[in-house]
Amino acid sequence: MSAITEALVREKLSTVKYPGFSRDIVSFGLVKAVSVSGGDVVVQLSLATSDPRVPQTIKDDSEVALAQLAGVGRVTVRIDIQAPAQTSPAAGGAPMAASAIPGVKHVIAVASGKGGVGKSTVAANLAVALQKNGAAVGLCDCDLYGPSIGLMFGTNERPMATEENRIIPIERADLKLMSMGFLLDDAAPAILRGPMVTKYTQQFLRQVEWGALDYLVLDLPPGTGDIQLTIVQTVALAGVVIVTTPQEVALIDARKAATMFSKVNVPILGLIENMSYFLCPSDGQRYDIFGSGGGAREAARLKVPLLGHVPIDIATREAGDRGLPVTAANPTNAVAREFLQIAQNLATGLAD
Ligand code: ADP
Repeated sequence: MSAITEALVREKLSTVKYPGFSRDIVSFGLVKAVSVSGGDVVVQLSLATSDPRVPQTIKDDSEVALAQLAGVGRVTVRIDIQAPAQTSPAAGGAPMAASAIPGVKHVIAVASGKGGVGKSTVAANLAVALQKNGAAVGLCDCDLYGPSIGLMFGTNERPMATEENRIIPIERADLKLMSMGFLLDDAAPAILRGPMVTKYTQQFLRQVEWGALDYLVLDLPPGTGDIQLTIVQTVALAGVVIVTTPQEVALIDARKAATMFSKVNVPILGLIENMSYFLCPSDGQRYDIFGSGGGAREAARLKVPLLGHVPIDIATREAGDRGLPVTAANPTNAVAREFLQIAQNLATGLAD
């Protein structure tokens, strides 16, 4: 019979998934130490959560997995739980632990259940609106596979680094901008997979030199995958804003996203309903293309605020394609005014 080795233990532990996610506990870096003495195995895990069910499930699953090792004796799984980071009381509780970004007061993630609902458009305009309301704001595009912030602000400039090898954000429209797209070659996202994505994302988030900011807006990739989990594990978020369109298919996915963030204790700051309605420039009529009231119903169901309704607007699409979000290009436009209001609603919800 072959002896139990540390490598065998790690291999077994890599079959244990983080509850609710497809990624395993080894590739997430939760396994801090393994020691083997004869058949006895001691595993030390470390994770950050305020939900007691998460470590318990991981401990149980790890013990079951390790018990399958041939010749195993006593199995001890210890979990070191780090205290969740504190957030403002107004944000409604503590998010999953992760470190604060030095100098940044509030990190707000913008998420969506599915692609194409206007998440990046909302993230960009929200960042501009927060800045126009008087705050120092950064915007970070975390969508490794489809970065769009560079396009929306008309830049693909390669950022410079400090002598300490920290990345200096690009400045546009009075915002500090950073995108994973600024650093990657076009072919790179295709080869970055699995644990490499986690490592790259963590490193990226920790290496940007943001300086003093009131708000850092993170444009997350769509959906509820491993990148989102990595981000909430890495950065202490004030909360997440979920973007949806009013139709039922989008709302179902928005609900899934909300469930994921609640599971990892990230406060949901509210929903934004995008492409809510169309105001026809020729007849002045309002057309509810995707139906009406969906966002409000979902927000009520989730017991979170509906932060605003953003209409479908040709100028908004054109401004995004031209390289300056509409809130910066034309602050009196109806969409821009809605974003200024949303930014104000958000800011009052987040204490200093
Ligand atoms: P996502 O980030 O969810 O994939 P984007 O923000 O890239 O979506 O938006 C997808 C497309 O829809 C873009 O061309 C964008 O300009 C357009 N768009 C988003 N919101 C609006 C809106 N309110 N009115 C008009 N066009 C919009």
